[in-house]
Formats: sequence, C-alpha cells, structure tokens
Amino acid sequence: MSTRTIPMTDALYGYYLGSSLREPEILVRLREATLKHPEAGMQISPEQGQFMRFLIRLIGAVHVLEIGTYTGYSALSVALALPENGRMVACERREEFTRIGRPFWREAGVDSRIDLRIGKAAETLQTMIEAGERGHYDFAFIDGDKKNYGVYYEQCLELIRPGGLIAIDNALWSGRLVDESLDDPASTAIRTLNVKIRDDVRVDMSLLPIGDGLMLARKL
Ligand code: CA
Repeated sequence: MSTRTIPMTDALYGYYLGSSLREPEILVRLREATLKHPEAGMQISPEQGQFMRFLIRLIGAVHVLEIGTYTGYSALSVALALPENGRMVACERREEFTRIGRPFWREAGVDSRIDLRIGKAAETLQTMIEAGERGHYDFAFIDGDKKNYGVYYEQCLELIRPGGLIAIDNALWSGRLVDESLDDPASTAIRTLNVKIRDDVRVDMSLLPIGDGLMLARKL
C-alpha cells in the first residue's frame, strides 16, 4: 500500500516488464537495431510504446503527429495501433536517423501510414497550420529538441481537435529537474513547459512517471 508513486527498483522493473509488456516482435528488433546507435538513449522505453498504442486505441486516433522521430521506434509503435486509414505526420530533422527504422516500417506494412517530413519541425507544423489543418489531428507526440518544446506545444494545441491528446516525452528529464540550479536551455524549456501545462486552463493534464516522464495534455 502506498499513498505515493512507489520507487521503481531494478527488480520491480523486471517484474513490471515481465508481467505486463506486450512488445510486437518487429518492435523488439527495431529497438535492438537502435541500441547499436550512439544516441540510443533517445529511444522511448517499450512499456511507454505500449502505453501510447493503448492511448491511440483508447481515443480512436486516426490522424496523429510526431515531433522527433529519431530511428522510428515510437512512430512504428503508434502506427501499429492506427486503423487502416490512419495517418501519422512524423517530423525529424536528421534523415539519417530514420534510415534505421524505415525498413522496419515497410516490413510491418505500415509505411504508407507514416508521412515522414524531414526538416525543422516548427516550420513543418507552421506550414500545416497555414494550410488549414487546425483541429485535424487526434494525437500528438512531442519528443523533439527540448529547447523548442514550448513552441511545439502551442503548435500542436492548434493542430489537434478538442478532446485530442498531446503526449510530451522526457517531462522528468532523467530526474535532473530536482536540481533547481540547472539552467541549460533544454532543462529550462522542460521545466517551464511542465509548469505552464499544469496551469493551462485550455487542457486537462496528468504527468505520468513512465519512461522518462510523459506529460499528457487533453485539449478542452
Ligand atoms: Ca525522448
């Protein structure tokens, strides 16, 4: 029994995964392929991928956005949960990252659901807003460069429909935010956005201590 979130020891995490993880085999292989990459820490955890698939199905998402695709694990994870007519706009600045994931998207038969846009996400999203796509999307996953988190949040809030969901990764930033003296641009942006969302009357919100912290904001 506990009146607070229990600490996740290694042993408990092992139990947690062993007793609750459903990870499709193709995701296992993409995760393993990504682990060879020097920046593999940027990949989301498998239980977080499972939770996002759960959310996609829970809200019946069809049109989704992703900011920061990296090697494509989260994109594949979400695309697998989308219906046949589902579409994801996946924004990534560095095309070379996505080369790791794209063969897996094809093999899974979901590459036609993923519309990869290489470039600066803020520009891609602005173009979409100007093209009249406001309110068109059901779900957005923000996991791009942290210093622009505040910009991405505002853009996603425009692009999703009322009742749609924004999920923001790394909200707990490896636990570093407890150090109040930390003032690098990334840490500051995450800290500022967490508080902004807590106080934002435009959304319902909940911050989940899954993975590196997943902030959920539901547009009212
Ligand atoms: Ca992340």
